[in-house]
Amino acid sequence: MTEFELIRRYFQSQTYHRPDVIVPIGDDCAILAPPPHQQLAISLDTLVSGVHFFSDMPAYDLGYKALSVNLSDLAAMGAEPAWFTLALTLPAIEETWLQAFSRGLFDLAARYQLALVGGDTTHGPCSITIQVQGFVPPEQALKRQGAQPGDDIYITGSLGDAGFGLNLLKTQQEAPNKDYFLSRLYRPTPRIEVGQALRQIASAAIDISDGLAADLFHILESSGVGATIFLDNLPLSTALRATQDEKIMDYALCAGEDYELCFTAPPEKKPLLKQALNNITCPIAHIGVITQTTGLKIVDGSGNIKSLTRRGYDHFAPS
Ligand code: ADP
Ligand code: MG
Repeated sequence: MTEFELIRRYFQSQTYHRPDVIVPIGDDCAILAPPPHQQLAISLDTLVSGVHFFSDMPAYDLGYKALSVNLSDLAAMGAEPAWFTLALTLPAIEETWLQAFSRGLFDLAARYQLALVGGDTTHGPCSITIQVQGFVPPEQALKRQGAQPGDDIYITGSLGDAGFGLNLLKTQQEAPNKDYFLSRLYRPTPRIEVGQALRQIASAAIDISDGLAADLFHILESSGVGATIFLDNLPLSTALRATQDEKIMDYALCAGEDYELCFTAPPEKKPLLKQALNNITCPIAHIGVITQTTGLKIVDGSGNIKSLTRRGYDHFAPS
């Protein structure tokens, strides 16, 4: 199979068709028509075999995750996804692998009416780069900067499942609900609907790729504020609680790959927030407050306070 047959069979023929794609895959450039009066949000992420995923990761999940982690960035900015491009580097052409990979990719793309509009296909060690493009009305993008003292801190979904799953893989352990943990690691849900609903409500937002503590620090530093987090309020799945692992809270605070959204909002916008999230089936937990004093304080159920510094948080990370 030639490179061009590969592109046609696995990528060109399967993509979602959108009227704003004027010239699709197959020419030197894609020509796209962004809607008037919207701004373009663009993000790119690379997954390298052996670095970001184990080489035996199921191809379907790899296609799904490569797109999902990019969509998560659009979600964190409150953008509506529209198009994406794909740079694929493969050591060999394996049709069963390509079929599963493209299915994972397009299953997720179709859910958000997202069109693949171009890319590049090269020979080499396996790596996947996706760039996504989406729309956001002027002045409405959610940024890391903007959190104010007194704002509430919220988190979508639950924390620590993906990190727990990753640890199972690394240590080659079996565990009850292993499939659940791996599904959270392999097929994170981009919180696209939540992100858009938070426009003009959230004061700051970020998606959790490196762990709650690490990513919340980005909001704190960009906004010039601090935070207090209530350990008992961190949302944990039933499956993670059931493990009774002694490091559960470390997974929730410091393990990465959850791709949940962490956002802040002033208390007076609580009713508005509730209303905006009314029709979205995604749990939201209130986990803390923004403070004037910089730094991150963690308060446990007995009122004990731990201070985490920018450098200190990774001492808590599960190995
Ligand atoms: P060029 O040499 O002009 O850069 P290519 O031969 O690399 O073009 O690609 C031909 C067409 O196929 C282009 O429209 C390109 O965007 C598209 N393409 C190449 N690889 C991929 C891929 N992995 N996924 C989607 N489109 C691709
Ligand atoms: Mg060309």
